[in-house]
Order: sequence, then structure tokens, then C-alpha cells
Amino acid sequence: MSTKDYIKRTSKMIQENVSINQVDIDIDSEIPDNVNVAKVLTTFRGSLPKGYFKKLNGIKVLNLEEFDQRNISAKYSADDRILYISAERQDSNADMLDDLLHEMGHHAETLYGDFIYGDGAIKDEFIMKRMQLRFELGSDGYDYAQFDFKDVEYNPELDDYLYKRIGKEKLKMMTAGMFIRPYQSLSIREYFAVGFEQFYLGNHKTLHRDCPVLYKRVSELDRKVKKESR
Ligand SMILES: [Zn+2]
Repeated sequence: MSTKDYIKRTSKMIQENVSINQVDIDIDSEIPDNVNVAKVLTTFRGSLPKGYFKKLNGIKVLNLEEFDQRNISAKYSADDRILYISAERQDSNADMLDDLLHEMGHHAETLYGDFIYGDGAIKDEFIMKRMQLRFELGSDGYDYAQFDFKDVEYNPELDDYLYKRIGKEKLKMMTAGMFIRPYQSLSIREYFAVGFEQFYLGNHKTLHRDCPVLYKRVSELDRKVKKESR
């Protein structure tokens, strides 16, 4: 049997049989050779308390035009509560695991929004960093006057400004020690989801150092969810 056939068969088997904590997994596309989905899913399940899977309606691994158009490899839809993970836009097992944990962070937001954001602590930490970023941009002579850096919601124009005008590499240097990766600066939701992903990847030290409030909140959430599912 060729590798391709094997992957097809594996995908098919997964498609027919696999669920994690009662959440069905659908695999609608062929998976690249460098990714072992079964292994990734096992690690994913083992990384998270069961409680996060509640009210999750499915995990779909597929190719969407939207992924290419927006240059993303996964998304979570709060409307249908499904994690959509790109089948082809994955470099490795670790890459797919990142995506799953990140999107699960967005699901956690819908389940525990009040607990996460209710006291405004994460918002304060995020805005403080946005102010730092604004200062760095000003020091480098960039004109940022058109943007409100205290607006914590996602703004596609700010996304373009940061990623296209400033550029990812420059942004990375500017935000080192401030944001785990530049993507975390785009909105309060991404700030949280990247923190959630890093926490469950086991990168506690960096998260604790760079985003102490966020680290504390994810730790508290972790305890709460574990307690609930006991
Ligand atoms: Zn996200």
C-alpha cells in the first residue's frame, strides 16, 4: 500500500470512528505526510481538561478557501461551535496541535466569557501592552494617528497596518517580551487565545513572565474547569 493510500485509509478510519470526549471529528481532506492526525488528536485530548469539550459541536479538518484568502490555518465559529482546522496548511504535528489548542481557547471564551473577562483585568493588561506598542511605533517614526490602540476588538485595518506596513519580523522584535507572538496584539480575544494555547502547550514560564495577568487567569480557569468535570 502506498503512503498516500495509507493516509487515505487512515483518514477514512478516523472519519468513521473517532470522537474525543463525545465530540465528533470529521476529516474531509487528505492530510499531508508530515502530519499524523491520530497522534495529534491523542496529544490534544491529553492536554486539556474534559470540561472544555462541552457544547463543542465538532472538529472538522478540511480545506476552506477562507483559509487561503485570510492566510490562516484554523478558525472557531461561535455560531455553530465548531473548530475548523486546515488539512493542508500544516507544517507538522506541532503546528496542528497549536491550531487545535488556540481555537479551543476561543471556544473557552464562549463558555467562560464572564470568568475570563468579567473583572477587566485582562483588558487592562492588554491595553497597557497596546500603549507600549504605540510608544515603540512612535519611537521608530511610524504614524499611527488613525488608530485607537485602546480599542480591544479586532480591526482588519490595524491588522493590515501591523502586518503589511510594519511587517511581521519588525513587529516581532518590537513586541518581544510584550506579546508571545505578534498575532496576540490584534485583539483581546487573540491575546487570550494565544495565552490559552501557550498554557496548554506547557510554556508556562514564558507566559508567566510576559503576560502575568493572563497567565493567572488561565491557571484559575484550568482549576475551575477541572473541578467542574470531576
Ligand atoms: Zn484566534
